[in-house]
Amino acid sequence: MSLRVFIGIGANLGDARVTVSQAIAALAQLPDSALVAQSALYGSAPIDSTGDDYVNAVVELASSLGAADLLQHLQAIELAHGRERPYRNAPRTLDLDLLLYGDEEINTANLQVPHPRMTERAFVLLPLLQLSADIGIPGKGSAQDYVDAVAGQRIQELPTT
Ligand code: AMP
Repeated sequence: MSLRVFIGIGANLGDARVTVSQAIAALAQLPDSALVAQSALYGSAPIDSTGDDYVNAVVELASSLGAADLLQHLQAIELAHGRERPYRNAPRTLDLDLLLYGDEEINTANLQVPHPRMTERAFVLLPLLQLSADIGIPGKGSAQDYVDAVAGQRIQELPTT
């Protein structure tokens, strides 16, 4: 059975726009999955992190991969982009977050879905709502209801080049 899956993408090292575009291409190639939609690219100020602005996007997949399997694929794509973790919240080449996995709530040692911080981050909420204005977050209600609280976070949609 195919589920509606949303993945958050962020990069802030090297040519972050290129990295995000390559990540979207890699996600589109995942087994048992199809790319349904991709948001615009956004530029956002680092939160709990340092360095250049981030480039962010959200993609929607239709996927029949299990959630743990999907997380492993996301981590493999991160690794393929040379992600290093010298310290917590270090600048990163590529960060992929499993935001929503159908309407499931998952709480295991290495996977929490919905992503626990997604309602606090403009760089997740704005591209997510661009894809689906009425999207709900299991256990948390409408994503739209969290937008006002993140209005102070600097973010802009990047022009297509
Ligand atoms: P981060 O450095 O913020 O990308 O966190 C990566 C860690 O978060 C990994 O060890 C994952 O196992 C864990 N994690 C928990 N929930 C999620 C999720 N929904 N998406 C991605 N990583 C997750």
